[in-house]
Amino acid sequence: MSVLVFIEQRDGRVRAVSKEALGEATRLAAVLGGPVVGVCPAAADPGLAALGESGAEQAILARHAAFAAYHPAGYARAVAAAVERVHPKAVLFAASAMGKDLAPRVAARLDLGLATDCTALAAEGGRLIATRPVYAGKAVQKVGFVRAPAMLSLRPKIFAPVAKPGKSAAVETVAVAEDPSFARARLREVISSAAGKADLTESEIIVSGGRGLKGPENFKIVEELADALGATVGASRAVVDAGWRPHADQVGQTGKTVSPKLYVAVGISGAIQHLAGMSSSRCIVAINKDPEAPIFKVADYGLVGDLFEVVPALTEAVKKLNAQHV
Ligand SMILES: Cc1cc2nc3c(=O)[nH]c(=O)nc-3n(C[C@H](O)[C@H](O)[C@H](O)COP(=O)(O)OP(=O)(O)OC[C@H]3O[C@@H](n4cnc5c(N)ncnc54)[C@H](O)[C@@H]3O)c2cc1C
Repeated sequence: MSVLVFIEQRDGRVRAVSKEALGEATRLAAVLGGPVVGVCPAAADPGLAALGESGAEQAILARHAAFAAYHPAGYARAVAAAVERVHPKAVLFAASAMGKDLAPRVAARLDLGLATDCTALAAEGGRLIATRPVYAGKAVQKVGFVRAPAMLSLRPKIFAPVAKPGKSAAVETVAVAEDPSFARARLREVISSAAGKADLTESEIIVSGGRGLKGPENFKIVEELADALGATVGASRAVVDAGWRPHADQVGQTGKTVSPKLYVAVGISGAIQHLAGMSSSRCIVAINKDPEAPIFKVADYGLVGDLFEVVPALTEAVKKLNAQHV
């Protein structure tokens, strides 16, 4: 019995979310037994041997020329084939954009149950139990599995990677043969967000702005604080709907789910749909002039005040601290 992890690569680089999944797989394998095996559909080896340092003992490179970019049907076939070969106890994906698309395809192909967007895993009496938020984060659900292997996708930034310096994974290359399913779903085009902009779901620090900013021109206040903190800018749906920010910036139920180390909410009321996307952040700071704003219910630190005064003062204080640490 092993734990199999889908290894996500983009442009020939393994993504950090897969190292988080390998970290959790390592902790699970210590209880459930068996090695941690990675499966990576790709056109060329993105350096899978190095995944030994992240906990993988073995890695399967499922190679096909079309796998340079995400290929929904081809990846599903390749991962399903690895599941059938390895017979793992559990299969882990990151609940990234790619993982959210791929995991249900693999589960459907193999007729297995899938627990998505998990925030905790536990092995109780040899059984795997997954914890996942439901009803936009209003409740948490514990899920068990009737049939093996258990299929799970993990919310990014929740699970810690492991470090095994000097370890190397044994890499095996498998050529993936095309079948009629390849024609069913093919990626036509990848449209990247603005160059150099960090992906919100991978950011350690996020400063998000809401309708309290009064207009798009005032987002520079948020951007300046984000610059000082080395953070990425996010937004509430109200400001995205108003056309102040692009949809890629939206945090929440119909936007991105984020779990940074620090989430600063500026002029955001904290509607349940916004909380659904950020309440698993490790530390939440809320700045709002209304002491009754629901965001304060989830905040670790709350600043009741006018954001037009509070945020520039905070930015100056952060800049001073940064200058002291140069
Ligand atoms: C199906 C559905 C899906 C949704 N999905 C999402 C989603 O993914 N993400 C999301 O964010 N929302 C989502 N929403 C919308 C959500 O319900 C809220 O309408 C939205 O989050 C409100 O955005 P806001 O907090 O920026 O605006 P508001 O609710 O208008 O809040 C603005 C806040 O700014 C404060 N403020 C005003 N002036 C100042 C000042 N000078 N200084 C300090 N504070 C100030 C106010 O006190 C207020 O709390 C969804 C709604 C539905 C129905």
